[in-house]
Amino acid sequence: MTVLRGTCHCGNVEVEFETSVAPADSSVRACQCSFCRRHGAKTTSDAAGRLVIRADEADIERYRFGFQVTDFVICRRCGAYIAAMSREGVNEKASLNVVGVGIRELAERDAAPVTLDHETAESRRERRRQLWTPVEIVPRTAVRQSA
Ligand SMILES: [Zn+2]
Repeated sequence: MTVLRGTCHCGNVEVEFETSVAPADSSVRACQCSFCRRHGAKTTSDAAGRLVIRADEADIERYRFGFQVTDFVICRRCGAYIAAMSREGVNEKASLNVVGVGIRELAERDAAPVTLDHETAESRRERRRQLWTPVEIVPRTAVRQSA
C-alpha cells in the first residue's frame, strides 16, 4: 500500500489516500460536470483503498446541487474542493480531487475527460460502489487531544 498525503491550500483539511495502485497506473479523471470544470478538478479513487479526511466539521462545507445526493466537500477557509462523497450501501464513498489537495504525483497526470450526464440515479450508484474509495472524516481536534 502507498499512502499519498495532501492538504487543502490553507492546511485546515488534510487527506491520506491509501492505495495499492501505483500513481502512474491509477485512473485520473476530469469530470465534465459544471462544478468540477469550474474547479479544474482531477479525481481518482480506488475501491480497494482507503481515504481519510482529517478536518473539523466547522472547517468544511458540504455543497450539493443537481440530484442533491452528492456532498462536494470544500474547505471553508480557502475554498479548495477536496472530494465528492456519497453514501453507497452501508459505506460512505469518495472520489478525491487530487488537484484540490495538491497530490502532485496525480495532479500532474493527464486526466481522461468523463461525462456522466447520461447516468440514471441507479447506474450512478452502481458505478460509485465499484469505483469510489471507502472514506471517513476524522476530526482534527480528536487527533490533537490523543497526541
Ligand atoms: Zn483550506
